[in-house]
Amino acid sequence: MALAAMPAAAQLNVFSCEPEYAALVKELAPNAKVFSATTAYQDPHMIQARPSLIAKMRQADLVVCAGADLEIGWLPMLMMKSANAKVRSTEQGLFYAAMQVETLDKLDKVDASMGDVHALGNPHLHFDPQRLLQVAQALTVKLSQLDPEQQANYQAAFMDFSQRWQQAIDRWLTQAKPLQGRKVVGYHSSFRYLYNWLGIEQVADLEPKPGLPPSSSHLATLLAVVEQQAPTAIVLASYQDNRGANWLAERTGLPVVVLPMSVGGNEQSQDLFSLYDSVIALLLDSQS
Ligand SMILES: [Zn+2]
Repeated sequence: MALAAMPAAAQLNVFSCEPEYAALVKELAPNAKVFSATTAYQDPHMIQARPSLIAKMRQADLVVCAGADLEIGWLPMLMMKSANAKVRSTEQGLFYAAMQVETLDKLDKVDASMGDVHALGNPHLHFDPQRLLQVAQALTVKLSQLDPEQQANYQAAFMDFSQRWQQAIDRWLTQAKPLQGRKVVGYHSSFRYLYNWLGIEQVADLEPKPGLPPSSSHLATLLAVVEQQAPTAIVLASYQDNRGANWLAERTGLPVVVLPMSVGGNEQSQDLFSLYDSVIALLLDSQS
């Protein structure tokens, strides 16, 4: 029987929607069994609710996702099909990062003409280190609630993470100083929080509207924007299609910089710390 085989201290089974939150859970609950539904090479807005994901969610004690409707196209289906009562409500084993912080760019009114906008605010908040720390703190409370026997361990892991993270923030801010005031062309609002944090301005978007791929007519309008605003790079996330960026790069001479969208998005990004290290290094490299 499966039950008889359970170890004395049962291991918490965590289902994460994105790799950044799987990495955060590994920092805060080193003994937990963690699964990420997506990789940094997949678009987290658009995932198929595959049977393998349903099976994983069925086993979960805790589900950790970005929220703010990032996963609206697939998470509700997974939750329905997995029928796991433990993770149905945020009162229990469901945790949304975006619910723990103030999101940027909330919209009061949304209509269909606006494209696939994030009405609840931008959900790509894991590149704001302070917000991520707030998420870590709330996640520690959630872990302790679900697994009270290990509360002291979760608290200790959070203190350790928080200390290392604060130190890293100081280091990153020093390293990233030359990026302040820099202008870039982006793709979607993927790095909104990173830019907000480091003082970078996204002056143009390869997307004509959120969720729509770059069209040739839209790309043509960007030539004028590049001329006026003089950005220094075209920045893509690891999962984004580079054709529009390459088209613009060929005509403007701007470098294309591909940043890991999450842990695992390039060779260097093995955890949250090295993810930030890599992103800042790549942006600095492209400038020199
Ligand atoms: Zn988005």
